[in-house]
Amino acid sequence: MTSIPSRITHWVGGESWRDAPERTAPVTNPATGAVTGHVDLASVHVVDSAVTSARTAWEDGWGRSSLSRRTSVLFAFRELLHRHTDRIAALVTAEHGKVLADARGEVARGLEVAELACGIPSLLQGAASDSVATDLDVRSLRQPLGVVAVITPFNFPVMVPLWFVPVALACGNTVVLKPSEKDPSAALAVARLWTEAGLPDGALSVVHGDGEAVDALIAHEDVAAVSFVGSTPVARHVHEVATSRGKRVQALGGAKNHMFVLPDADLDQAADAAVSAGFGSAGERCMAISAVVVHEAVADDLVARIAERTRALRTGDGSTGADMGPLVTAEHRDRVRSFVDGAAGEGATVVVDGREGPVDGTQSGFFLPPTLLDHVGPAMAVYVEEIFGPVLSVLRVGSFDAGLRLINAHRYGNGAAIFTRDGASARRFEREVEVGMVGVNVPIPVPAAHFSFGGWKDSLFGDLHAYGPDGVSFFTRGKVVTTRWPSADAGVDLGFPTHR
Ligand code: NAD
Repeated sequence: MTSIPSRITHWVGGESWRDAPERTAPVTNPATGAVTGHVDLASVHVVDSAVTSARTAWEDGWGRSSLSRRTSVLFAFRELLHRHTDRIAALVTAEHGKVLADARGEVARGLEVAELACGIPSLLQGAASDSVATDLDVRSLRQPLGVVAVITPFNFPVMVPLWFVPVALACGNTVVLKPSEKDPSAALAVARLWTEAGLPDGALSVVHGDGEAVDALIAHEDVAAVSFVGSTPVARHVHEVATSRGKRVQALGGAKNHMFVLPDADLDQAADAAVSAGFGSAGERCMAISAVVVHEAVADDLVARIAERTRALRTGDGSTGADMGPLVTAEHRDRVRSFVDGAAGEGATVVVDGREGPVDGTQSGFFLPPTLLDHVGPAMAVYVEEIFGPVLSVLRVGSFDAGLRLINAHRYGNGAAIFTRDGASARRFEREVEVGMVGVNVPIPVPAAHFSFGGWKDSLFGDLHAYGPDGVSFFTRGKVVTTRWPSADAGVDLGFPTHR
């Protein structure tokens, strides 16, 4: 029996949007290929209503609310999200396709940022200097920006919005969130939890949509700042448009994360890490390992170990215990497969061929089992481009220097990991590799919430990274107050004030 697709609509001013949509897009369950809903695509009018509602909520009080008021909402939200983890994770699996354990993991990593934001009184604490000159005191404070826009990709429908929303709200801003139209339901469910936690109506709105909604949001005169995460071409576009309108922007883009395996590494640990980080979430992670750079001396051995583990993976419906789920859409699955076709044509060795791999599931799901490619060259499209799928490429090098040069020549600089037992090599790699996040025997070095997340080069446009101290700086403006309470007339003095 075919179930009737449900409507997924915007959340504006603390309630569901009522008007009929001008345009909609289908939402599918990638494991079955079935259309499970239709999401409204926001017009300029809907975006304007959400921004106006956010501005009103900011002016009416959230922007001036006390830290204790904000933290009471943040603590309540943290408890609600924790309690509803399984329900939210099931929504992620149903629309994204990742396996349930992975979906629970992304909620858990998002919770860490909510917990960080609960400590906002300390994070916003300014500095004070008493008597910098006679009777003169100085203190610093940070104030909110106003309405901020958060635009997020399909691959972490809960975690990536939570990199920004709790910190932005904790700092006293109000937020318009535009999640991916491919898997919109989880972000909506989380927005309802914010309302239940006591956040005033309008302080967080969710508008669904595509490029039209994004373009309206980043150009809106009442939006002060934009946090964007997505592919590099769109990140560059968002950065260019929003900065040209005078907005503060952080735009996180695509990636090609390398794992560098030195001859002295524990090859079983390295193979486990390559398979986990390469094929987890079907390779649809911005920190997924997609290129293994290995010293020739151990390359055959490492490839054999990775191949054995790759063949053992079960690809299937993420809600029923498979190791790896489907790709998010049929188009994306076909694009990823075309990279494997291209690499084979360009001379790479297809060691494990996902195009022929077994699938536990329906034929109509968007499955592509994992592929392992060896002898990949630096000019091949499969290496140059971000693939964002379950394809692991092995590149062989003859020395440490050659490996480091190769990694640093890539246009992306999100993350990189080194596997070695040698501290000196690890330390040199840490210091010389040109990426924003480095792992030493850690394949996916996503920083803890009290650090900040972000890449270099074409992986991030803007100066400040997400969450942690950078997140607080991004969502606030600094101010310094210099105070004197004179007890007697100082008299007129046209000289430049100096600290005496
Ligand atoms: P995407 O760029 O297609 O979409 C991201 C957001 O931009 C979505 O909300 C989408 O609706 C919107 N959008 C899409 N096309 C647009 C256009 N032409 N104009 C304006 N807005 C547009 O990305 P995606 O496919 O949803 O997500 C995967 C990408 O995100 C990958 O490149 C991945 O590396 C990247 N990503 C990066 C990080 C990071 O931290 N650097 C984290 C997660 C994902």
